[in-house]
Order: sequence, then structure tokens, then C-alpha cells
Amino acid sequence: MPFLCKRCSRKAILKRPKTGDTLCKECFFELFELEIHETIICAKLFKPGLKVAVGASGGKDSTVLAHVMKVLNEKYHYGIHLTLLSVDEGITGYRDDSLETVKRNEQQYELPLKIVSYKDLYGWSMDDIVKQIGLKNNCTFCGVFRRQALDRGATMTAVDMILTGHNADDIAETVLMNLLRGDIARLSRCTAIITGAEGSLPRAKPLKYAYEKEIVMYAYFKKLDYFSTECVYSPNAYRGYARTFLKDLESIRPRCIIDIIHSGENFAIKSSVKMAAQGSCSRCGFISSQEVCKACILLDGLNRGLPRLTTGKMKKAHRSFAQNNKQENGEVTSPAD
Ligand code: SF4
Ligand code: ZN
Repeated sequence: MPFLCKRCSRKAILKRPKTGDTLCKECFFELFELEIHETIICAKLFKPGLKVAVGASGGKDSTVLAHVMKVLNEKYHYGIHLTLLSVDEGITGYRDDSLETVKRNEQQYELPLKIVSYKDLYGWSMDDIVKQIGLKNNCTFCGVFRRQALDRGATMTAVDMILTGHNADDIAETVLMNLLRGDIARLSRCTAIITGAEGSLPRAKPLKYAYEKEIVMYAYFKKLDYFSTECVYSPNAYRGYARTFLKDLESIRPRCIIDIIHSGENFAIKSSVKMAAQGSCSRCGFISSQEVCKACILLDGLNRGLPRLTTGKMKKAHRSFAQNNKQENGEVTSPAD
């Protein structure tokens, strides 16, 4: 006897990873989209007229996000203006191919696309950076630059909010990593659906409760055009362990992903750890909790040929940056400075 859809009793074609329910394709699409809509409504993410950019990499998460946002905006009349915003890190054999996917998505979804590149913004592509520093700290540079590149692209296109494709698995992994590191400040922030609201540009994660397996299923059954190759410079061993651990837990108890996120949210409510106040960088003017932002510090190290000094201990890098600045400005420095 064929399995029947738990919702409509038609023939089921899949078992939902999040709940184990058997569903037909249409009911799966409806439930998947409805849950994202509910996440958006509960968090009061949008107001009519808001200009919203989807951070689009061409990967499954951001492609599904762009598709679902377009569907929901039309279905529930959010009244937001959607665009696509991509960052070209300059990684040959990875980002050049994935950007071709984003360009096709621009046509398929009829959404305007803006691409900003590290090379244009900073004078260095990731290929250049890896040539200079090797494969050890490349993701630190890439992460810091990407965060700011998205802000810069959003400023250029005058958008009010950026949406990122972080899914439930990503957030659960981050909760685990922060817990294992004892980083309570980050732990209390990593489950938030909106970050950066205190600065000029909020970022939101509408897929925060969407399971990765369901995102893949949705993209597969909707026949979405996405790019699935890993970055050629991807080491990130620590996240890799957290990911494997989470997948093992999920295979025994699928609810664990959502439960870990809820645990993180409860930590966030109970924790009294204060985050550093956000201001703007005295050099580039973009968001920073220090006088000079991390992107400027890292870039300064690269341009001076001292990139090793700028990764790892940021405090040391800030001191070195201040000292170099004094010397450039002709100020006298003592060894005790
Ligand atoms: Fe950048 Fe590292 Fe991600 Fe590659 S894996 S895109 S280098 S952060
Ligand atoms: Zn800066």
C-alpha cells in the first residue's frame, strides 16, 4: 500500500526530515513556505516599502531564500522591494562559477542584482590573499571582508536590510561551537533572527528554523538552479567537527537541531553578558566596535606585508596598527608604548 500524505491523504512522495511526516510534494512546499512566513511574522521583520537585499551566493540556501522570499512577498503582500546582493571574493574555480548561477537567478526571479568584489573594495582578491598568507587564516580574512563587503554593497544600493541564508543547522552548529568555546557573548547573539539593528543596517535570517535537508529537498523538487561545489580554500576544521557531531545527533533524534536552537535562545534571554557598543570605523566609516574596524586592521597588515601579525590576537594587531599610525604621523613613540 502506498504511503499517504499526512495532510491531504494524496500519495506521499517524501518523508519530512524535521518531523518524520509523510507528505505529498505540494503539502511539503506549502508547509515549508508557511513556516518561513510564520518566522517572518513572529519577528515582525518587514514593513511595507522596505528595501531588502538577499545576500546571494548561488548556493542552495541563498537560492532557496531568494525564491521563497519572492513567493511570500507576492502571496502575503509584504510590500517589500527585493534585490540580490553578491560578494565576489575572487576565488577561481569556485566563486566565478557560482556567480554565473546568481546571474541566472537574476533573470529567473526578475530581481535586480548587485555584485561587489574584494578586488575592487580592498585591492586584494582571496586568490591574492591566499598567495600571500597561505591556507591557514584565509577564512578569517574572508569572513571579515565579506561582512563589510555586504554592508558596502547594501549602502551602494541603498537597501534597508540584508537577508542571509543561514539555516537551522548552521545556527545549531554555531550554538555548539560557542558553547564548546565558552563564548557566552557570542552564544547569546548567535540565535538572534536580527542582528545589527542597533547600527545602520540590520541583517536577518528568515531560514533560521529551516532544516538543511529540507532546503535541499525544496530546491530539488522545485528544480531550482543552484551551485553546490565547496570553496577550494575551505578548511574550517572546528565547524566541520561540530557539523559531523550534529549530523550524528540528527540521525538519532531529528528534533535535536531545533532543540539546540531553543537552548541557545534561552541562554540569550537569561544571559546578562553585554556586547560591545557598535560605532563606526574612523578609517572607512563602516560599522565597528573599536575605533578602527577589523577589515581595516587586516587590510593594513596585508598592505604592509605583515598579515601574520593581524590574525589571531586582534588586540595585538590594534596596538601595532596604532603604533604604525603614530610613526606615519611623525609622533614620537617610546618602547613602552
Ligand atoms: Fe571564504 Fe573560507 Fe568560505 Fe572559502 S571557505 S568562501 S575562503 S570563508
Ligand atoms: Zn574600517
